[in-house]
This record gives sequence, C-alpha cells and structure tokens, in this order.
Amino acid sequence: MNKQPKSLEEIRAQVEACHACPLADGRTQTVFGAGNPQARVLIIGEAPGKNEDAQGVPFVGAAGKKLNALLDIAGLDRDDVFIANVLKCRPPSNRDPRPEEIELCSPFLRDQTRAIDPEFIVTLGNFATRFILKTEVGITLLHGQVQQAGKFKVFPIYHPAAAIYDRKKQAALEEDFATLGCLIREADAAAGATTAADAAAAADAAADAAAARS
Ligand code: SF4
Repeated sequence: MNKQPKSLEEIRAQVEACHACPLADGRTQTVFGAGNPQARVLIIGEAPGKNEDAQGVPFVGAAGKKLNALLDIAGLDRDDVFIANVLKCRPPSNRDPRPEEIELCSPFLRDQTRAIDPEFIVTLGNFATRFILKTEVGITLLHGQVQQAGKFKVFPIYHPAAAIYDRKKQAALEEDFATLGCLIREADAAAGATTAADAAAAADAAADAAAARS
C-alpha cells in the first residue's frame, strides 16, 4: 500500500528540529527550501552557504542572482520552481558534504520530492547529480542530457557557483537552461496534443452513440 506523502510543512518542522549530524551545531538556521509547492520543476543544489545560512533561504547572494538569470533563460522564475539542497545545514567553511551527512539528511529531500511530485528534477553540480542518479559519473559528462530516474525526468546542470570563475561553464549553463526551457515546452505541447486527441476521441464516441440511437 502506498503511504500518503508528508506535507511540506510537516517535513519543514522535522528539518528545523533535526540534530542528526554535527552540522546542526554550526548552523544559524536550517535551510529547508523555497518555491512553489506544486512546482513542475524541482531544483536541487548542494548545501547552504554563508548567505543561505544567514537568511534561511536557498540560493541568495551572488549564486542566487545567477540562478535567477538562468531561470529567466528557461522562461521560468522562482515562483514556478521549488529549490532545495541535498543538505539542509551549512557545512563549515563551505566544505564539501560528507557521505554520512548526505545519508542522514537525504530522507528529507526524498520526502520533499514525494510531496512536490515534480515532472522535472534539475540537479545542480556533482553532489546533487550523483545523489539523485546514483552514479559516479561526473557532471562534466552528464550535464545537459535528460536522464530518467523512476517517474522523474532528471536534467543535470553545472552548479551556478562553478561559473563564477569559469566562463566556459557559464556558456554551458546558459545553453543547458535554454534546453530546459525547450524540454518544458515540448512536454506542454505533448500534453496539449494528448488532450486534443482525447477530446476528438470523445467527440467521435458521442457522435457514434447519437447515430446508434437514431
Ligand atoms: S544537515 Fe540534515 S541531517 Fe544534518 S542536522 Fe541538518 S537537517 Fe539534520
């Protein structure tokens, strides 16, 4: 029997109360995630940085501005998507997440994914991509290609922060977000075509039924 997904508010309360790993000791606050609870696109980053830890919101400051500009290329804004991180607390000095921290924190991300039930999952950078796709293949090879993970279309992209010092990554990021916009429009067009075909089939069936009655 499928369990009912937890609500985002229930998950948020659990995150705020969590002391499962030592990152709880150094945090100013947890960073649960933000955005549209019914988003078609769930964006997953790595972990909160200094600004996120201070404000309790993912992707603020320079990386946030960059992400907003990239979303714009895809025809999206923050209200269209939900943004969360693999870790909900800031690692000291922004060091990489450790495997045991990811393992302890990942149930929250799984619950968030079930609650939001997105169509697309965009993974930003190596940690999110490896966690979601259960792969050791790096982002350099995977970015810009849609992968299927269960019912979700997963679209790995470089982390926006990686482009701050590397112009080549900036070009790849812009290209990948443009592709994301195309993928969403294609999915819309396919859904529209299905709806039109369903309507035509229903009209045919109604006409057949009317003909049979006369
Ligand atoms: S990082 Fe995750 S597991 Fe560790 S204390 Fe924060 S919420 Fe809990």
